[in-house]
Amino acid sequence: MGLGVWGSVILHFSFFIFHSLFTLPSFPWYNLTMIQPSRKSLEIPPFLVMEVLEKAKAMEAQGIDIVHMEVGEPDFDSPPCVIDRARESMSRGETHYTHSLGRRDLREALARWHARRYGTQIDPDTIVVTMGSSPALLLTFLALCDPGDEVILSNPGYACYPQIVSFGGGAPVLVDVHEADGFQYRPEKIREKITPRTKAILVNSPSNPTGNMIDRARFAEICALGPLVVSDEIYHGLVYGEPAVSAREVSERTVVVNGFSKLFAMTGWRLGYAIVPPELARPMQKMQQNFFISAGDFAQVAAIAALEQCDAEVEAMRAEYNRRRIMLLGRCREIGLGVTIDPTGAFYVFCNVKKFCAACGLDCYDLAFDILDRAHVAVTPGTDFGPGGEGYLRLSYANSYENLVEGMNRLEHYFRGK
Ligand code: PMP
Repeated sequence: MGLGVWGSVILHFSFFIFHSLFTLPSFPWYNLTMIQPSRKSLEIPPFLVMEVLEKAKAMEAQGIDIVHMEVGEPDFDSPPCVIDRARESMSRGETHYTHSLGRRDLREALARWHARRYGTQIDPDTIVVTMGSSPALLLTFLALCDPGDEVILSNPGYACYPQIVSFGGGAPVLVDVHEADGFQYRPEKIREKITPRTKAILVNSPSNPTGNMIDRARFAEICALGPLVVSDEIYHGLVYGEPAVSAREVSERTVVVNGFSKLFAMTGWRLGYAIVPPELARPMQKMQQNFFISAGDFAQVAAIAALEQCDAEVEAMRAEYNRRRIMLLGRCREIGLGVTIDPTGAFYVFCNVKKFCAACGLDCYDLAFDILDRAHVAVTPGTDFGPGGEGYLRLSYANSYENLVEGMNRLEHYFRGK
């Protein structure tokens, strides 16, 4: 016996209702069946340099020869004594979780290293060893910020800071720095942005992307403004004039963030640390226990070798970066890529391409991708580092001298006649 007209209508209607229950956004069950990424994960901007790198890699996979001047990663391998120490450590079975603040022997070695380099006295119990300086920054802002608290950053500044601050619970507040002024982070400009909600001022000297450095007097002035200073010292040691000043040399009320990625060419080891005021040590330790447990065991052992046995290798890398820096600055000026004041730290040149953007009718993002497409040189658009980076490109000299010469020849050819 068939369903009849009404039976069939009722059956179809029931299917419709049942289907709708699970698929129409207005039904409460919808959320159970639909995979919906969180708003903050949808809204976080990409790290543009990685997008350039990924496109460059895809082009290389098609057989195109690319000169990489985008990534901020040392082209050198980690020093052999570091690798040997890691091997020994692994063979000894040092492959476990460690103390959540980090191995005591590494924290003591860090305290000795800071005493040797800067003459500062650091209590190993106020050092939190993390998986790179990025988690050290995140834990710092998680420990400092309640909703509505503000953190002052320079614009342009390191691309990931605004995201790290906001995911850490704070609100980034930008202070502009200018090419004509050598991208100096000026205390009087910072003061204008301080409010009762200002929790911290982030300082990055030598700076990514500008290579600019802050001298001792200005650093002391920034520390005297009132809010806690968080000093990202990841490029310390990669300097080509006066040594960089550590925040602890000028004030106790500071957080020093550093790591092994740049100076020791150890990006893949994922190791960094924060030196914090005693009030922050326990909160950061508890978050480390909950979120990351500890940094890697044998990586921490190897890092002691980096601190104590690698001075010669580090100096050789620094001297080679300097040779490349001098060549790159000369070539930039010949080609017409604007550099007003020579950068004296890190491994970047932040050059002004506003006249080329205007001539081509492109912003610096499109210009960077056009350079990749036509000249096969990967460079980072300045806007990766904030709105103040419009009209600039960041060139990284963390690539061999020969490759950089070739990259600059290609750029000269690309910009000729523009
Ligand atoms: N701070 C700055 C200024 C950086 O340039 C970088 C890496 N590009 C980091 C922090 C993060 O480095 P890591 O997590 O490898 O220590």
